[in-house]
Amino acid sequence: MKPRLLTPGPSMVPEETLLELARPVTFHRSAEFRQVLTEVEEDLKYVFRTKNTVCILTSSGTGGMEAALANCLSPGQKAILLISGRWGERWKNLCKAFGVEAVIVSVPYGQAVPPEALKKALADHPDAKAVCATLSETATGVANDIEAYGKLVAPTPAVLLVDTISGLGVVPCETDAWNIDLNVTGSQKALMLPPGLAFVSVSPKAWKVIEANTAAKLFYFDLKKYRDKIEKESDTPYTPANTLIKAMRLSLQRMRKEGIENVWKRHAKLGAAARAGVQAMGLELFAERPTDGLTVAKMPANLDSSPLISKLEKQYGLRVANGQDTLKGKIIRIAHMGYTDQFDVLAALSGLELVLLEAGFPVKPGSGVAAAQQVFAEGVKAS
Ligand SMILES: *Cc1c(COP(=O)(O)O)cnc(C)c1O
Repeated sequence: MKPRLLTPGPSMVPEETLLELARPVTFHRSAEFRQVLTEVEEDLKYVFRTKNTVCILTSSGTGGMEAALANCLSPGQKAILLISGRWGERWKNLCKAFGVEAVIVSVPYGQAVPPEALKKALADHPDAKAVCATLSETATGVANDIEAYGKLVAPTPAVLLVDTISGLGVVPCETDAWNIDLNVTGSQKALMLPPGLAFVSVSPKAWKVIEANTAAKLFYFDLKKYRDKIEKESDTPYTPANTLIKAMRLSLQRMRKEGIENVWKRHAKLGAAARAGVQAMGLELFAERPTDGLTVAKMPANLDSSPLISKLEKQYGLRVANGQDTLKGKIIRIAHMGYTDQFDVLAALSGLELVLLEAGFPVKPGSGVAAAQQVFAEGVKAS
């Protein structure tokens, strides 16, 4: 059986990156490693679509979110949180931990936060220092309209913090053009690396807020230290996960070679095909405004997704994800981000058809696969 990791983090890693990870560990304070950092920093800017410095942190994605929040806000200050699922709720838990007053703007799971709701919140809370949002809500498969949020936040004194952890490198994300002040992402979703690194880009507007925030409680995640080291010395303040960073160079080169616009197009196609596939099988989509890095299908009322998901893994090597918390058993989440291609999507749909049939759900074998293949066939011409 061939294992396929189709969870929305971690995701599959290209072979050349894995081979780099197998090489001996090297010392990190060297001219050679500074060269790697310089290249990686440039390639991150390319993927982020930014001129801003991207801070490279040794932590999971949540460490990057904590860094973004804690650097900009001090206890007692106010942030508007746009919450469309569990990952949006992580902003709320971070606010609680750091004593930040949270103004919650939330929608039912499966929906995106409408920009009008942010407009109203900004008008009601002109003293808000920050707005926190999620590009791709991995818990529900929803994409939020960050470009529209950016237009609303830019003319205010507030800074826009965006968790793009499962969206960057999947769907368009224009850090500079959309006025994203702090853009946080992680290594293990679409950037084709194992877990262990977080990246935070910081705009000039945000640096001013951070410099003025003298009451911030920071040590390891003090972004000013990361900025100064990378800008002045092509270095990091503490021991970086240098093996991961060296491997990242290969994954980022791969993205550069494909071209970021083509990366977005590939994911748009994978998303369209996967959505067509599950719907053709007779399942409904969970997300009203779907993102392209994962497809979230609702289970029919009488069917629990948990045994289907374990069968997919045990019988077919297909590791997909369940819903979290209240959505456990009610949905199935199939990721197609990063190092995935159309055959991974077809494999996932084929396996899903089989476990649905086994569970007694009336699905015509091949119906989901055919619908997805139809999407892939668009644009293919006979020569
Ligand atoms: C995976 C994910 C996170 C959490 O990242 P960790 O690396 O587990 O800390 C946060 N936000 C989103 C949208 C994610 O998909």
